[in-house]
Amino acid sequence: MKRNIGNLFIIACVLLTVAVWLIFPPVYDGREHFERAYAGEIIGSVNIVLMSFALFLSTRPKWAEPYFGGLDRMYVTHRRVATTAFLLIFVHVLTVPITLSGWALGNYLAVIAFTGIVSIILVSLAPRIAFLNKLTGGTYDGWKNLKKYIGVFFIIAFIHALTVPNPLDAFIAINWVQVFFILGSVSYLYTELFGRFFKKYLPYTVEAVNHLNKSTTEVILRPKKDSIPRHRAGQFLFVRFPGDRSLNESHPFTISSAPREDVLRVTVKASGDFTRTLYARLEPGMDATVEGAYGMFDYKTGGQKQIWIAGGIGLTPFLSFIRDMDGSLDRDVDFYYAVRHKEEALFLDEIEAAAQRNPRLKSRVRFSAADGPLSVEQIVENAGGDIRDRHIYLCGPLPMVQSFERKFLSLGVPAGNIHYEEFNFR
Ligand SMILES: Cc1cc2nc3c(=O)[nH]c(=O)nc-3n(C[C@H](O)[C@H](O)[C@H](O)COP(=O)(O)OP(=O)(O)OC[C@H]3O[C@@H](n4cnc5c(N)ncnc54)[C@H](O)[C@@H]3O)c2cc1C
Repeated sequence: MKRNIGNLFIIACVLLTVAVWLIFPPVYDGREHFERAYAGEIIGSVNIVLMSFALFLSTRPKWAEPYFGGLDRMYVTHRRVATTAFLLIFVHVLTVPITLSGWALGNYLAVIAFTGIVSIILVSLAPRIAFLNKLTGGTYDGWKNLKKYIGVFFIIAFIHALTVPNPLDAFIAINWVQVFFILGSVSYLYTELFGRFFKKYLPYTVEAVNHLNKSTTEVILRPKKDSIPRHRAGQFLFVRFPGDRSLNESHPFTISSAPREDVLRVTVKASGDFTRTLYARLEPGMDATVEGAYGMFDYKTGGQKQIWIAGGIGLTPFLSFIRDMDGSLDRDVDFYYAVRHKEEALFLDEIEAAAQRNPRLKSRVRFSAADGPLSVEQIVENAGGDIRDRHIYLCGPLPMVQSFERKFLSLGVPAGNIHYEEFNFR
């Protein structure tokens, strides 16, 4: 329940916005198309509310994680809220009566805000639309750089609302919406300008760079002055390496070391520009800047019988769990680690040793190229036929996670028992 409070709060604010407009309607001034102007204002206000939450979620507020179920889920909400706002912009434009004469500042600002927001959101949808993806260079950074201008158009949209000629006389509703405008603007300025003075960016040094196979790097980071940020096994951080221009972008990686270690370890699979450059160019002695830790992927909050499924590099949070165990695992865990080929499998010795130290941990490695993909039927069989009381932890490629989730749900596992880490923020 707690993890839904954030989403429920956003929905409540949207409904309240509509309610405020209905309870305190604008004074009828005899104008033509009054109802359309009224409906258009309600839609425009809901838009401001949604955009302000989208901007707020972009600030990565750590304290709000429990109310959304983790930062990864906050990004999912951000995406949904932004997409709904995008669609509502069109509804707003089609609803408000537009005349072509007597234009003032507010009308010109409306055109600028509309063009800016629509273009940026279209590009934000890029990863889902192949043709648009090319416009951002197909990289996360190109996409992120474009997106950061959205707040400017948000502010222009609000000034448009205040300066549009002949506004409706609705003092209370307009003031209510102003609260959200302030939330959105402050959030935006925090993200782009002054957040750096408040956020904790911790200085680290790259102590070691280990190439585990042809595409995976283990990076060991030692703190320069502060101690390791307090974190739980399974959480992730954002890291960048200011000494190399291409590596000076903040990227999220799970902390694959145990919280008690005096260094932080991340295990990185080369999958795009940043991670490939990291594999090729990162060297011991380079500076690193760490932000975090974030995330709510924690098996200790689950039940007594668990199933863990890692696909490929999705092993990392489970590595952290395993490294955190001191031989006293207090629940039954069936751990499946699926990779395509033997060469891709990482830290098998460590997993094996952990299973020997912790009798309640049963680990199975699956090489899908040779043995076929891991199936839910096998998992159910190994679990004794009934898995409805199991807590399932999933991390891996999105299609794999989604397919397992669907199958477990169809077998009667309650949605609240299925936990997964989203390795994708856009
Ligand atoms: C919570 C979380 C934990 C992760 N843990 C690991 C891990 O332990 N090991 C690992 O190898 N990978 C992990 N990833 C994935 C890793 O962040 C991306 O593979 C990496 O950022 C790709 O960047 P790129 O430039 O190489 O590739 P690109 O081609 O630019 O990006 C590939 C995909 O990675 C995601 N991504 C890229 N850059 C960022 C960014 N700055 N912030 C957020 N998402 C981004 C986007 O979804 C993008 O579609 C994790 C991701 C998340 C969200």
